[in-house]
Amino acid sequence: MRNMNAPSLLDSIGRTPLATLPRIGAGLPVPLLAKCEHLNPGGSVKDRIALAIVDEAERSGRIAPGATLIEATAGNTGMGLALVAAARGYSLVCVMPEKMSVDKRVALRALGARVIVTPNAPLDDPRNFQNVARGLAAERGWYLTDQFANPANPLAHERSTGPEILGQAGGPISAFVAGAGTGGTLTGVARCFERSSPRTRMVLADPAGSVLAEMVRSGRPGVDGAYQVEGIGSSRVPPNLELARVHRAEVVIDDESFAMTRRLWSEEGLLVGGSSGTAVVAALRVARESNPGDGAVVVLLPDSWDRYRSKEWAQPAGPD
Ligand code: PMP
Repeated sequence: MRNMNAPSLLDSIGRTPLATLPRIGAGLPVPLLAKCEHLNPGGSVKDRIALAIVDEAERSGRIAPGATLIEATAGNTGMGLALVAAARGYSLVCVMPEKMSVDKRVALRALGARVIVTPNAPLDDPRNFQNVARGLAAERGWYLTDQFANPANPLAHERSTGPEILGQAGGPISAFVAGAGTGGTLTGVARCFERSSPRTRMVLADPAGSVLAEMVRSGRPGVDGAYQVEGIGSSRVPPNLELARVHRAEVVIDDESFAMTRRLWSEEGLLVGGSSGTAVVAALRVARESNPGDGAVVVLLPDSWDRYRSKEWAQPAGPD
């Protein structure tokens, strides 16, 4: 007979390793520790919020068995939702901007999701991926999981990511460094640390071309431009990003992000995506300015390299 208490795939979400970076972090005055969110079953930090959002929608009666979920996603939230939808019997529609890698589209379709690709249009354009998702949800009666504004997103990080890091660090943490797409990670971890590790400084790692870093520094949006790194940065502050909780911002250009990502692969064996490179570049700046005896710098690695394999920047440098 089947054991009804057998663990489900969804039970393996979270409790990811916090690893040292022995080579990239060599010679720093403080430990540099990486939270390996790429090791979640769906390959990204977004598994946590996908599960939390669906749990909350079920609890509050917003979805019934067989419901269709729809999300505007750079890909990772879609992957997380696809795992949860498959396990729980929901249908999933993902609306993705053209910019996002083909690898993510292929993976989402493999997981049984329907993928709608939209032009790379700004937020005030009705063709923008978030506007298309909202419109379809209203028109078809689908449940918009709404990672940009859903409070279950930062709450998942406040309740799981933050406490896990505090439990694993084995000592004080001077800074926590992460990018912001929806802002759920930074906001949720910040809320947890404000209570349990109030001296930790929260650092935003932002791609050049996003307006967010300048918002942290001066309260005014920075120059809105194009960049290639996926999943982080924005042309406006998303509802789930509480910038008042962020103490410092570092701007990282694409080339630095991608070069660091390749170093994470070849020097550390960490098979992560481009936004991990952005975060580690920012974390190294913070760590280099630290004094011996300051607490560790913790950096969050959001996703896995497999979703970028077709990208030019992800091609290995040397001969076969
Ligand atoms: N990196 C990648 C690759 C992502 O897809 C995301 C989420 N869009 C993030 C970082 C940022 O996470 P958050 O939405 O919690 O700010």
